[in-house]
Amino acid sequence: MTTTDTKVLIVGAGPAGAGTSFFLTKFGIPHVVTDKASFPRDKVCGDACSGKTALVINRANPEWLSEILGKPGDFLPSWGIKFVAPNGRDLDIPFNPNRTPESKAPGFTVPRLDLDDFLFRKMAAPYCTILEQTTIDEIDQHKDGVTVIADTKGNKTRINAAVIIGADGDKGITRKHFMPAGEESPRSYAVGLRAYYEGITGMHPDNFIELHFLPEMLPGYLWIFPLPHGRANVGVGILSEVIRDKKINLREQMLAAIRNNPNIAPRFANATLIDKIQGWGLPLATERRPMSGDRFMLVGDAACLVDPFSGEGIGNALYSGMLAAMAINEALPANDLSAAFFKTHYDDVLYKRLGDEFRISTTLQRLCKYPWLFNFVVNKAYKSKSLRDTISCMFTDMDLREQLSKPSFYFKILFNK
Ligand SMILES: Cc1cc2nc3c(=O)[nH]c(=O)nc-3n(C[C@H](O)[C@H](O)[C@H](O)COP(=O)(O)OP(=O)(O)OC[C@H]3O[C@@H](n4cnc5c(N)ncnc54)[C@H](O)[C@@H]3O)c2cc1C
Repeated sequence: MTTTDTKVLIVGAGPAGAGTSFFLTKFGIPHVVTDKASFPRDKVCGDACSGKTALVINRANPEWLSEILGKPGDFLPSWGIKFVAPNGRDLDIPFNPNRTPESKAPGFTVPRLDLDDFLFRKMAAPYCTILEQTTIDEIDQHKDGVTVIADTKGNKTRINAAVIIGADGDKGITRKHFMPAGEESPRSYAVGLRAYYEGITGMHPDNFIELHFLPEMLPGYLWIFPLPHGRANVGVGILSEVIRDKKINLREQMLAAIRNNPNIAPRFANATLIDKIQGWGLPLATERRPMSGDRFMLVGDAACLVDPFSGEGIGNALYSGMLAAMAINEALPANDLSAAFFKTHYDDVLYKRLGDEFRISTTLQRLCKYPWLFNFVVNKAYKSKSLRDTISCMFTDMDLREQLSKPSFYFKILFNK
């Protein structure tokens, strides 16, 4: 068996692993990235990338973001969101109400096959060494570091690292090894299905992504996200707890909505399903969990960082990777790779920046259980431009978004204040 030594080993080359690698390279820290897949590889997802995804890519290298925004044929710019309330009434909310011809799209959509391959190809030598088709199947943590056994098509390599980054998703080996606490609560876990279609009509001219809050799926929703080349990503995401309690067959429910819902079905009259329908889980950030320990940090889905309301995980994966790399950049010169150091320099920093967002999203997800409340807000916003503008600003302003989780917000709109 051959042996490789490295400062940092990253397990997983999705957005969380790539995000970590970009910033380690910026800091000049040598690292090895392993992934069991060969890129380009698919990942079940809604394929919608928010402003946070753009922010981290821009911080890693502004030219990469220009490359993305300069290729609208491959990365479809998205300017807003359409909410459809349980009563069927819809509401178009632009991400940027003050858009000018010079404005850049705040978000974009792109199949994960292409996005992850784009990010993968940006991980660069000399600081980054990539091992594809390489599965980590044993981890041994000891006082001098972490040793793993990597399997590349039957060839075994021993990799010794000072620190290991778990970027291999919530079902990966790193979470199992370092956080063996057992099953996640069904309240903190959602299940989603993804289907690719061609030929859906009635898309917004500015590629608004659509969230349809159908009564039978609350607090989950059905989404229709336009993609490049006239395609669309259609899917549903629902809390595991609801699926279990109501014994929902998710696939049947999604196809029934596409066949029968009066707002949706006519738009699919000439649409074609172009790939098989696939499902995957979403580990939600509904509660704060530990994400690090002696000589390790978990990032992205491995750290359960999916937004509990929107289902957004790509931006949080990249963002957590960036913060983990910053923590390593401080830990190595201090020669302190302890649990205490990573807790203060990674977990606490991440929760200071994203904790409010997770808390508000958890409350919003719970409020969505009440269709009447949803209908009420959308009915009012339909008639009031100022309320529509307020909701629009909530995408960028966390203080404003917090209003949504307070009863006073609903009283104010009830009495037109
Ligand atoms: C149905 C659905 C819809 C979603 N929609 C959206 C959306 O529209 N927008 C959004 O922002 N987020 C969405 N998400 C969430 C998003 O997909 C995830 O949060 C995101 O992929 C997390 O990135 P990651 O890098 O942590 O993990 P991943 O992207 O899962 O990458 C993990 C990598 O680790 C590798 N790996 C696993 N085990 C090993 C091993 N033992 N050894 C080596 N490599 C290994 C895998 O091959 C993989 O490449 C959705 C999720 C689902 C399920």
